[in-house]
Amino acid sequence: MSDCIFCKIAAKEIPSSAVYEDENMLCFKDINPAAPVHLLLIPKVHFDSLAHAEAGHETLLGKMMLKVPQIAREAGLSNGFKTLINTGKGGGQEVFHLHIHIMGTPA
Ligand code: 5GP
Ligand code: ZN
Repeated sequence: MSDCIFCKIAAKEIPSSAVYEDENMLCFKDINPAAPVHLLLIPKVHFDSLAHAEAGHETLLGKMMLKVPQIAREAGLSNGFKTLINTGKGGGQEVFHLHIHIMGTPA
């Protein structure tokens, strides 16, 4: 997906403020934050949305979901946080590479 902005961020072709990275995923600050802490967690592999996830993504999605609370904690969201996955145009999705929004206010 050479024209995918989040693939380019994952490949470091476009800079981002990363807060977590491993071999499967990257988490970085949203460029237009809607909360004091607003992070985006993406898989390094491209798929358009949650509606495009397949059985082969099961382990990856599980790892991402389990990583969310750790990332939130390390971002200072010890009191709790919101997660959001917009799916499709009707769901408000603007960037068509799956991402989990992690949002909140540090305690
Ligand atoms: P969506 O509406 O697709 O769920 O959310 C896309 C999010 O990506 C938006 O909150 C937007 O601010 C963020 N975003 C779009 N382009 C960039 C970018 O180039 N860098 C970063 N860090 N965030 C981006
Ligand atoms: Zn992509």
